[in-house]
Amino acid sequence: MQGKLSCRGKANNKASPGLKIDCAKLQRTAAVIGAGVAGSSTARHLARKGWQVTVFEQAANLEHGVNALGQLALRCRIFAQDNSLARFFLAGFLYSAREFQRMSRDEGLGWHPCGLVQLQRAGRHRKKDPAALERLYPEEVLLWRSQEQLRALTGLPLARSGWHSPAAGWLDPLELCQTWLNHPAIELKQGTAIDQIVRESDGWRLLSDSKDIGGRDFPVVVIACGMGALRFPQSASLPLQSVSGEVLRIRESEASGAIHHIIQGERGIFPAYQGRHCISASFGTDENAQEDLTGQSLAMVGDLFNSPLQLKLEGIESAKAKRCQSADFAPVLGAAPDFAECRRLYAPLARNARAAGLPPPAHLPGLFFNLAHGSHGLCSAPLAAEYLASVIHGENPPLSREIAGALDPLRFLIRRLQRQQVD
Ligand SMILES: Cc1cc2nc3c(=O)[nH]c(=O)nc-3n(C[C@H](O)[C@H](O)[C@H](O)COP(=O)(O)OP(=O)(O)OC[C@H]3O[C@@H](n4cnc5c(N)ncnc54)[C@H](O)[C@@H]3O)c2cc1C
Repeated sequence: MQGKLSCRGKANNKASPGLKIDCAKLQRTAAVIGAGVAGSSTARHLARKGWQVTVFEQAANLEHGVNALGQLALRCRIFAQDNSLARFFLAGFLYSAREFQRMSRDEGLGWHPCGLVQLQRAGRHRKKDPAALERLYPEEVLLWRSQEQLRALTGLPLARSGWHSPAAGWLDPLELCQTWLNHPAIELKQGTAIDQIVRESDGWRLLSDSKDIGGRDFPVVVIACGMGALRFPQSASLPLQSVSGEVLRIRESEASGAIHHIIQGERGIFPAYQGRHCISASFGTDENAQEDLTGQSLAMVGDLFNSPLQLKLEGIESAKAKRCQSADFAPVLGAAPDFAECRRLYAPLARNARAAGLPPPAHLPGLFFNLAHGSHGLCSAPLAAEYLASVIHGENPPLSREIAGALDPLRFLIRRLQRQQVD
């Protein structure tokens, strides 16, 4: 262990040639495909740097999918070792907490930094060593607490010891996206599913129903539409997977009104919002999604407490949504590789996985990905947006070369070549 995780790294000053964008020559106009957490935050971060942004969203309004869930938690994704992903998620968590705090102060966003309690898993699932994690993470992110300490903190009859994350909190994802998109330099075009991205001499032309919708070409396009990315040839080879989840919303009772922290175990329960508590999602891949996970989720919430908390079980609402994750569970972030050309450039890796002296990657100019935020989009998407906006704008990006490499869309092809899995 090298001490606590650091968010800083060596700045990635030397962008590869494909990443270099001559801002002076560019009209600062960009298109973003998808108005979820990733697309909305990317649009806002570009707008902050002076770009005019058009966001294309296939749904007729923003109240669908994840945005209809009511409450999402900002929680740090925790790793047992210090590595690039651990550093990215820690930096992302702290960045998001600051961004939401600022939006709450300046734009009236309902951000609730109530803290989160993660109870230790029972029995054989007790995996993470408290002392090792406390050495890695700062106190505002993770503090080990005994059962008595957690009971005193929350005032609830919690069943086990666990972790307290004081800087965690929750917000309404619909309100978050609306707030990010509410900027004079951002135009939102709803009900517009992009189905083709075509390279023209001045940039990218976007087509919907095979018709040109913009009447102009965009020098920069960010694909931030989750699984929707698979419909474009430029991103179709990315290993993305759709995972279905169900969130329950139960009515607030006198007893449950005492919940002021997010309490998390196998499932979690949020403080009440608009008279209801969210019970965090149960997930299954599309192939194995179960029909009814309601009973299981309620039982798991019951397991959080030693004595049963009286919950109102009549009138339970459930909401389903899907998330997009990558084969290695990390976001897919950065300039879009020209996969066919990269396959040719890096063919030597199939003969020698450590081949040196290879050329820099080839990219599709002006095309970027911000995808696969998995189950931690609130933690990863805002910093990902700031990273992309910095790269696009030609500033020093806020992630080290090592961290950016761990998220780079090219990593999957490189690994497959090294393992001789490419025909
Ligand atoms: C049930 C559930 C609970 C979750 N709970 C949490 C939580 O508590 N905390 C947390 O951090 N994360 C949580 N997540 C994960 C989080 O929701 C995701 O990480 C996040 O939504 C990813 O955002 P996104 O913008 O990448 O994708 P999405 O939210 O899927 O947004 C993509 C958008 O692109 C649009 N689109 C798709 N194709 C096209 C096209 N061709 N043209 C135009 N638009 C298109 C879609 O309509 C959609 O609006 C949860 C996810 C689920 C499913």
